Amino acid sequence: MSQHVHTPNQARIQAGNRSSDHPDLLAIGAGVFGLWAARHALKRGERVLVIEKRHVGAGASGGFLGALMPHMPDRWNTKKQMQYEGLRSLERAVAELEADTGADCGYRRCGRLMPLRHENMLHHLAERIAGARENWVDEEGKQAFTLEHIPQAELAHRFALPDGKPWLSPEIAPFGAAYDTLSARVNPRAYLAALAQFVRSHDSGAIAEGAGVTAIDPAAASASLADGSTISAGRIVIANGWEAYDLLSDVGAHVGGQKVTGRGVKGQAVLLDLPHSDNLPILYDSGSYIVPHGTTMGADEEGVANCVAVGSTSVDDWLPESEGEEALEVARIGFDVADIGFFEHACALCPTIASATVMERWANVRPRNTIPDPRSGKIGTEPVFGPIEGHGRVSVAVGGLKISFGIAHLPH
Ligand SMILES: Cc1cc2nc3c(=O)[nH]c(=O)nc-3n(C[C@H](O)[C@H](O)[C@H](O)COP(=O)(O)OP(=O)(O)OC[C@H]3O[C@@H](n4cnc5c(N)ncnc54)[C@H](O)[C@@H]3O)c2cc1C
Repeated sequence: MSQHVHTPNQARIQAGNRSSDHPDLLAIGAGVFGLWAARHALKRGERVLVIEKRHVGAGASGGFLGALMPHMPDRWNTKKQMQYEGLRSLERAVAELEADTGADCGYRRCGRLMPLRHENMLHHLAERIAGARENWVDEEGKQAFTLEHIPQAELAHRFALPDGKPWLSPEIAPFGAAYDTLSARVNPRAYLAALAQFVRSHDSGAIAEGAGVTAIDPAAASASLADGSTISAGRIVIANGWEAYDLLSDVGAHVGGQKVTGRGVKGQAVLLDLPHSDNLPILYDSGSYIVPHGTTMGADEEGVANCVAVGSTSVDDWLPESEGEEALEVARIGFDVADIGFFEHACALCPTIASATVMERWANVRPRNTIPDPRSGKIGTEPVFGPIEGHGRVSVAVGGLKISFGIAHLPH
């Protein structure tokens, strides 16, 4: 994806004396969170070093799903508001990144279609449609995005593939479908590459790849690396995905009054060669996503968009029994051909995908915070943002379920 820097010393050489010696910001992890932290700091005029154990996009951010999907707009709360602001502002944030780098991140507000498989889903939808009217609003309070009910009989002609076959099978949607205009998609690899390009090409930015942080000292705002060296910084952002929990538990980190705990959850995805029009919505149901990427990810000889990503993230018991880094790496990114329940479900959503050619299989592990809600005790799915208590120079930015790409650009 990019030029690799294998040790911090090489990073210093590459970056000259610009940013690697006592940077203002040290971002740990070159996924979507670490790279956004770097971009914000560079925009503020700071010197930034991103330190990455493997390479840019080696983690959960380096796949091809890129669904940007809102929570439901009923039962509104501050977390839904934060995610809404993220999804609303991302379009402009991506446009600015594209203007800075000349990249095309494959962003499009394509909407989302979700089948209503049971009557009670239809009843819930009425509340949700009202919630969208109230909460998906612009600065003047006017509704900016809609949620509507598409009756079963209309599905096939409103959302069809070029051969006329339905995009969402009416058979799986006996009560029709919910269609929102807020959801969007981005090409994760192009997006990550643009962020990395911005950091690398900036006079005050550098990315050191192949350099893992083994421990942090929050009091000193310093990080120890696998090669025995130490980097101290003005501030540190811990953004190394699911592997952050180990670094954080070693120092007993609390954020917002809660001890930060979590685990890695594995997901799998396939990229299909399936001609489609550029304006089809994402299909989503029961944890399976189908993301039509339009022409920005790829097109066939006739110029028709043909990259459709299908995936889900739900495998909890993926950690290998045997010890060692190698076994861990195999388990982390090995695609398990026996675990394709998500694909079978996706075929029920859109039967045409069953016969599409698979262009790529991909697996990776995303962070899953397990911090109980202080009031209800319920384990949430939210991201963790904020300074480590007692150590204002060290903060955490670790993603949450389904919504990471929609909020990673928010200042944190
Ligand atoms: C199959 C799949 C599909 C998904 N689909 C979507 C989707 O459609 N929409 C969405 O919003 N989210 C989706 N997600 C979730 C999303 O990808 C993640 O939540 C998000 O990418 C997390 O970003 P991150 O920057 O926190 O972590 P990562 O992208 O995992 O980045 C962390 C980086 O830190 C590096 N690192 C680890 N340890 C160290 C260390 N000690 N020192 C230095 N570097 C280190 C890693 O190599 C990695 O590059 C999906 C996840 C998977 C697995």
